[in-house]
Amino acid sequence: MVIRLVILGAPGSGKGTHTYKIAKRYNLKHVVVGDVVKAEIRNKTELGKIMYEYTSVGKFVPSEIVIDVLKNQVEDLKGFDGYIIDTAPINMEQKKAMSDFIIDGVIWLKVENYDMLKERILNRLICPNCRKVTTKSKYPNRICPCCGSVLEQRYDDNVETFNKRIAQYVDKTLPVIRDYQREGKVIEINAEQDKKDVYAEICDKLDKFLENLK
Ligand SMILES: [Zn+2]
Repeated sequence: MVIRLVILGAPGSGKGTHTYKIAKRYNLKHVVVGDVVKAEIRNKTELGKIMYEYTSVGKFVPSEIVIDVLKNQVEDLKGFDGYIIDTAPINMEQKKAMSDFIIDGVIWLKVENYDMLKERILNRLICPNCRKVTTKSKYPNRICPCCGSVLEQRYDDNVETFNKRIAQYVDKTLPVIRDYQREGKVIEINAEQDKKDVYAEICDKLDKFLENLK
């Protein structure tokens, strides 16, 4: 059985941390949309060249092109049992463009306390090498505990960008989640808990969800 998942949630809801672990546990290809787009541009693929024409002048890459890139990724699963897409579709336009993707389930990391998210974002560090997500308070020396690389703060982890991204999430992404809810695909997770408990809830609900898919 191929497992096809999407993970969605507000900025700071823990998508990076949890997707990394879910991908390992269920042997899924972890498809990070932003990373995939950047890699195509860097490798100057055909789609990469088209996307560069937009990004080089500060324009958004049209949804259909982003989705084409994703399609290439999910069609090439090499040894994985499926995939988890982190983070798309983030608006209804992308969801429409993904209409021929089969999505079994959508993990929704639900947080309603946006102040909690803001604190998390400003404290966040990420490993550029192995993608481990951690915090300044936990690793003040900024050395990745997994691979020894220097941990970085994402350039867009600041208050202004956070406010913009929360507004976008509420206006554009919540309607997508509601739509998937109507389709009965959403696995709702209380992401206001401790990281450990969030992960336990994901595994528990995902196991049951996958059992029902068989
Ligand atoms: Zn690392």
